[in-house]
Amino acid sequence: MKRRDFLKTAGVGIAAITLAGCELPTFLRRQTRPNIIVIISDDMGYADIGCHGCKDIQTPNIDSIAHKGIRFTNGYVTASKCSPSRAGLMTGRYQQRFGYEFNPGPPPKGIRENIGLPITEVTIADVLASAGYTTGAVGKWHLGTSPRFNPIKRGFAEFFGFPHGGHPYIGRHWMESNPVMRGNVPVNEKEYLTDAFSREAIAFIERHHDKPFFLWLAYNAPHKPMQTPQRYRYSFEHITKPVRRTYAGMLAAMDDGIGNLLEKLRTYGIEDDTLLFFLNDNGGSGKGYGSRNSPLKAGKGSFFEGGIRVPFIVKWPRRLPAGVTYEHPVISLDILPTVAAVAGAKLPKDRRIDGVNLIPYLTGRTKKTPHEILFWRKGDDYAVRQANWKLVSTAGKTELFDLAADIGENRNLAAERPDVLKKLTKAYEKWNAQMKEPLWPPNPRIITEPKGGTNIS
Ligand code: CA
Repeated sequence: MKRRDFLKTAGVGIAAITLAGCELPTFLRRQTRPNIIVIISDDMGYADIGCHGCKDIQTPNIDSIAHKGIRFTNGYVTASKCSPSRAGLMTGRYQQRFGYEFNPGPPPKGIRENIGLPITEVTIADVLASAGYTTGAVGKWHLGTSPRFNPIKRGFAEFFGFPHGGHPYIGRHWMESNPVMRGNVPVNEKEYLTDAFSREAIAFIERHHDKPFFLWLAYNAPHKPMQTPQRYRYSFEHITKPVRRTYAGMLAAMDDGIGNLLEKLRTYGIEDDTLLFFLNDNGGSGKGYGSRNSPLKAGKGSFFEGGIRVPFIVKWPRRLPAGVTYEHPVISLDILPTVAAVAGAKLPKDRRIDGVNLIPYLTGRTKKTPHEILFWRKGDDYAVRQANWKLVSTAGKTELFDLAADIGENRNLAAERPDVLKKLTKAYEKWNAQMKEPLWPPNPRIITEPKGGTNIS
């Protein structure tokens, strides 16, 4: 698309209106409309990156994002498992508003028409595409395997990745139920999968660096199966535990790929004008898979901090400060409204967006907290965070913690502070009443697909 056509399509921003018919100066275009990249890792431990204090695995490239940007010390996702976490991030809405409460289960032998991100939801890619951004998704999708849920039907112009939740890194790439695909066509990918995703992300930037783009790069690393690239086989001999050594190689492959991507941005001179988020989709799976979440309690699947507080970093050298931390709680829901604001894109008006535009908070224009209160729900379990208080209700047991004094959630204060317990419970009940029933149960492998039709579109 020619620059002029793009401006007409975009139809947003004062610059676009006043300069219609002229070439927009590059510096102005870049200042007003940054490129946007969201990089997600999968089941990575909270403690497993250098900027979180990790010593035995080096992640210099992820760390460089923090050095050149802002690291959130209270950065959350909306779920403690892969798929609902992505549903929240992708829409900017608590996923329980549209029934996306549970993972969709193991890869189906056939296609499940009813399990996926409801097509009535507006995605971050829909929002940015409507503002003229070129959109691409690379990596794990996990928001539905039916062709109608494919990223190319959900606002992304391009897709390279697999539709379901887990995938081998080496061999067996041609999985009948969950193939690596380009668009909606299965491909026989030979490369170590993390390297393939880095390659495709960089190729996307090469194709689209001269106009505003949005890249969603969802590595499945370091999610199981635990498979390390050959080239790192002897790189971590200082690590004695085999699974941790394997995990280190998987993480290193991702970090190296991110380094190559950042280098590509520098090559094109667009690093300063690219807003980049890096975050993990849910807590690490634990020692059995080589990850560590310390000092946080528990991990994947839990509403203790280890399940939902994640590495979360943002970088935009042109506008945001560098090498600092931000302490107020933020959540993955904030990414959509933030990127919409900087892109000059309109948010859908017919629905509640739960995230907020973080830019005024990150530039210091406002000192308030972005969120007075945050909620999580998975079946009967739930959690609430307000200021330093955290309520966790699991299997009928409700506990209360003061995160400022007890980040490890070891001292239950429910009996000592019934006033706080009551207040948070009441707030949860009010929020919960706005949410929908889950569209499918926690274990949807037992679902019998109804003949024809669908119940969620
Ligand atoms: Ca995950």
